[in-house]
Amino acid sequence: MEVRQTVEIRVRGTVQGVGFRPTVWRLACDEGLVGEVFNDGFGVLIRTTGNSGAISQFLTRLHSEAPPLSQIENVETQVLNLQDFEDFRIAESVSGENCTRVTPDAAVCAACRAEVLDPSERRYAYPFANCTHCGPRFSIVKEVPYDRINTTMADFPMCASCHREYLQPADRRFHAQPIACPVCGPTIWLEEECPTNFSLSPGFDKLKLVGHQALDSAIELLKNGAVVAIRGLGGFHLACDATNPEAVQRLRRRKHRYGKPFALMARDLNVIRRYCNLTPAEEDLLQSPEAPIVLLSANGTEKLPTGIAPGLSTVGFMLPYTPLHLLITRQIDRPLVMTSGNISDEPQVTRLDNARSGLREIADAMLMHDREIANRIDDSVVRIVAGRPSVMRRARGYAPSAVPLPGGFADAPDLLAFGGELKATFCVVKDGAAILSQHQGDLEDVSTFEDYQKNLQLYSKIYDHRPNLLVADMHPEYLSAKLAKQRAAAENLPLLEVQHHHAHIASCMLENGIALDASPVLGIAIDGLGFGDDGTIWGGEFLLADYRGYRRVGAFKPVPMVGGVQAIREPWRNTYAHLKAGIGWDKFVERFSTLALHRYLSTKPLPTINRMLETGLNVPLASSCGRLFDAVAAALGLCADQAIFEGQGAMELEALAESWRPSAADSPYDFAITGSELLYLDPLPMWKGLLEDLAEQAAVPRMAGRFHYGLAKGIREMVARIRATVTTDFSLDTVALSGGCFQNKILLEELVRLLEADGLRCLLHAKVPTNDGGLALGQAAIAAARHIESSNPAQVARASCAWFTGGTPVPQARH
Ligand SMILES: [Zn+2]
Ligand SMILES: [Zn+2]
Repeated sequence: MEVRQTVEIRVRGTVQGVGFRPTVWRLACDEGLVGEVFNDGFGVLIRTTGNSGAISQFLTRLHSEAPPLSQIENVETQVLNLQDFEDFRIAESVSGENCTRVTPDAAVCAACRAEVLDPSERRYAYPFANCTHCGPRFSIVKEVPYDRINTTMADFPMCASCHREYLQPADRRFHAQPIACPVCGPTIWLEEECPTNFSLSPGFDKLKLVGHQALDSAIELLKNGAVVAIRGLGGFHLACDATNPEAVQRLRRRKHRYGKPFALMARDLNVIRRYCNLTPAEEDLLQSPEAPIVLLSANGTEKLPTGIAPGLSTVGFMLPYTPLHLLITRQIDRPLVMTSGNISDEPQVTRLDNARSGLREIADAMLMHDREIANRIDDSVVRIVAGRPSVMRRARGYAPSAVPLPGGFADAPDLLAFGGELKATFCVVKDGAAILSQHQGDLEDVSTFEDYQKNLQLYSKIYDHRPNLLVADMHPEYLSAKLAKQRAAAENLPLLEVQHHHAHIASCMLENGIALDASPVLGIAIDGLGFGDDGTIWGGEFLLADYRGYRRVGAFKPVPMVGGVQAIREPWRNTYAHLKAGIGWDKFVERFSTLALHRYLSTKPLPTINRMLETGLNVPLASSCGRLFDAVAAALGLCADQAIFEGQGAMELEALAESWRPSAADSPYDFAITGSELLYLDPLPMWKGLLEDLAEQAAVPRMAGRFHYGLAKGIREMVARIRATVTTDFSLDTVALSGGCFQNKILLEELVRLLEADGLRCLLHAKVPTNDGGLALGQAAIAAARHIESSNPAQVARASCAWFTGGTPVPQARH
């Protein structure tokens, strides 16, 4: 029976600054409801009166028709005394706007796209059109609340037309803070920093061009092979014609970037399809509001110059995600290189003056605009792995959206986790939400570390965050950990140091919504290096773990890293160390002296290295999966002398393995399992197989394939052995996979297939990187878990549970 009633509806999640209230208004009017909607400190509050049927219909539609950028986490409804309203209205916000929800930047929406391409619209060809469903957000925020005055759009007072749209609930620009048009908004211009040899059509003024002329001239330059710096959404890009090998080489030379692949932008899917056969999942991802760089197999009919992604079989493509990029690419029928505008490993340039000083040697011209970038944010990088998106670099479009904390974490303290060293991020926990920062870069670069510190301050301001607990990696030399120590001392805050691979596993558990008091999982963390709790270097770990602690039950067999970090730069060192530690150098020479590998290694300073190994000087033991990949890649002649970036050899090895599949006639290499207390995954049988193959001059792709599938098989056998021999008081049926080596698609997909065949549930990363970019989230989870436990005596009994070794309760945080 229909009853007229008044209800109060509380909506939590990402519901502010995303066009939520106008949607509520529209749906309420549609359903004939009266009442009001407004923002407050907890999200959106709705009070409405109407027939119960209409209200329930309204609630259903609120979920199914929520605006694209919103994320509803929770809706609570409560019946009030009957109230009368004249109509349905959008009321003033109540102070204390929710500041743990800053929306990520979103790619230009279909409506804005159509508008800038329609000559009859007033925003025709306007590079800064946006609305409540799209456009800049995080990249322009300086302070909260998210109002125009607190963004870099404060410099552009709205014109009368924009203001009308801003005030009209039925308009899709209702309360769109970055609203702009050609009359009142930002503008573009072109600067030519050095006299160029690239001819422009007659009529172009060579010095400073504005508006359409600037755009047309930049396009002309790009078509003629020039390098153009383009100020985008979260920073500068360097662009050139990706199909022009000379232009690509010129850009590499000037940028001093020799090994790493370049990202590309193409105007639409049809252009990308010439180079890559797209799957439906890849198409969806390319066209999503996050619009990331998607790593694709370069298996199309047309080929790109080898200078785009040297040695790799993948290429990173994105679609234009701002009207500016749309207006540039739509006139160019081929992909453009769109690589971050920086010098070698420094952070992407965001400011005009830094571009003029830093990029003038690289770019022939610069397409500038005057909307300042408050927060540098790189393009995100995503790959479809095991059938779903896996974020490898989490930045534009993804950060800083909050990662919901699973059950049991409601009392998490306000804390700050400092992350790792490479691909660094940090994590803020506040009001029960975890906010993982955007990708910062490698902190060993001085300017990246400065930028990381600047961003820590910025987040503290944006989120009004004053942590009462700090968390860092155990590694004594990580700059992030040193900074955390200094800050803990200066502000008299408790600091918790967390083991690297435990943080990887906790990050994976948290992302998968595993509750605080769930049974432990078997974590498999494989990566380059992390500091172990026994003082050695870890990087191939099997941990029984929950959020609070872990027990190391297995590892890759440790091998010396000859020369420490030198072994990362010169992969042949790992090959030598593996051969010497496994088969033994003398045996290798006896049996395989005719191999090119033997001749090659003999040219190296082996006596010096042997002395280092004898004296134990600068040869730390490492149970690292990354170094095993380096050793195998170098044995096959990939990046043997020098790796330009960590993991280069592994990426090239993966590219070669793509065409190989195991068969009855051709099986993967074997790995052995040795040890008793601590089980070791021992690669010795694999090396024997590989050397035999080398002696028989087997094809390199076959050896690369046998290694990949062999490693997956070896890890599966290790898991089976652990389940058979380690006694636990819980059922070990869940495996969490984390660490940078799981960026390897072949390894991850094969391992998941094998483990699922054994009846195991596999937890994988999706929106949080499996590499060190996810560490900060895991650190936050571990610190929160230990804090909750230490402040709840009822649960302390569990902490001393016999099988744990890794968990010490957190020092009591101050309130
Ligand atoms: Zn839009
Ligand atoms: Zn305007």
